Amino acid sequence: MALGMAGAFALLVALSLLAVSTYITEARRHVGADYISMVTDVVRAQEDAVRLRLTLDNLRDSSDALHVEQLEQLLWVIELRIRSITQSLQRSEIPRAAYRPLMEELVHLESRLPSLERALAAYAAGRDPRRLEEVGREVEEGLAWSYSELNELLHLASATQRRMMERLTLAVTALGLVAVLMVGGLMLTLLRIYQQRETLAQQSRTDPLTGLDNRRHLYDVAAEEFARYRRSGEAPSLILIDLDHFKRINDAHGHPTGDAVLVALAEALSDEVRAMDRVARLGGEEFALFLPACDESGACRLAERVRCCIAGLALPGRAAGERLTASLGVATAGPGMDGFEALYALADRRLYRAKANGRDRVECSAGGASRVMSTP
Ligand code: GH3
Ligand code: MG
Ligand code: MG
Repeated sequence: MALGMAGAFALLVALSLLAVSTYITEARRHVGADYISMVTDVVRAQEDAVRLRLTLDNLRDSSDALHVEQLEQLLWVIELRIRSITQSLQRSEIPRAAYRPLMEELVHLESRLPSLERALAAYAAGRDPRRLEEVGREVEEGLAWSYSELNELLHLASATQRRMMERLTLAVTALGLVAVLMVGGLMLTLLRIYQQRETLAQQSRTDPLTGLDNRRHLYDVAAEEFARYRRSGEAPSLILIDLDHFKRINDAHGHPTGDAVLVALAEALSDEVRAMDRVARLGGEEFALFLPACDESGACRLAERVRCCIAGLALPGRAAGERLTASLGVATAGPGMDGFEALYALADRRLYRAKANGRDRVECSAGGASRVMSTP
């Protein structure tokens, strides 16, 4: 399932990247264009046409040398402006087909400027005033039409650019949202997988009835502690506990009551030990206390305390008032011991000795010097 999700996630990311890169490539063509400065040039160029009209009118009224000079200068400006604008248009992102007619008209007008200059020279020399008016009007009208068309074209392009920017912003925002959602979803999934793994791991090392460590986990922890003991020299001890005649509790009060007794006992055992000690249920009515860095006398004292605690435990439910006892075998790691199994085997032998010797007892050391501490 995780693989399927990862595949879907990768596909979604690839599709998003493809869509966005295509869109951005398209949008950049429009967004990169500087239409504002072109519009400014065109507005100035439109004034050229108006000034041409005015200057021609002035010349018609009087062939003053000043007006002649003004027109000469204006023709020079008009020529420069036509070149600059046609170059800007060619460099722009506006499709060639959209500006071809007005471009052709501007090129044509530029080619007509020498005729206008010649007509002006003839007029200044006192010949053919109608020619100047004819060519002048032709150029003026041509400029007015071309620049007005161009102005409209630039406004359209600028509007397209604005729309493109809006769409781009929207696309980037949407993509950001999708990315946040995808990352959030992925994080949630990972968290859930992690939690499930944690739960499974927890279950695999826990006894379901009491919540204590189970036998397998005790073995793992004890093996690690045993390896540490070899380095540090601080011996661990083990106490094995087997409840006495527990079958009778079940027989007398039922299995659920027996279970409740086991749970109460687990809590009592956990309260008795240090934080670093491990309490485990090995199975049935058998428990173990693994005590890192605890010598034999400390382990025996604790075992005795535990024995007394069990004997004084207030039993729950229908078993209330009954007295529960346990037999305990205690062993401490020593120099000849090659692993936890050996420690366990020793504690187990002592536990059976406690049973054999009458139950409700702690058996601590080998031989006849066992400490027997039975409750009166
Ligand atoms: P002994 O003093 O010789 O240990 O006697 P005992 O009755 O405690 O020992 P035995 O091994 O004969 O019986 C163990 C009993 O523990 C048998 C079963 O009824 C009980 N038992 C084992 N597991 C559970 C459990 O999970 N819940 C309950 N309620 N009882 C259990
Ligand atoms: Mg047993
Ligand atoms: Mg028993």
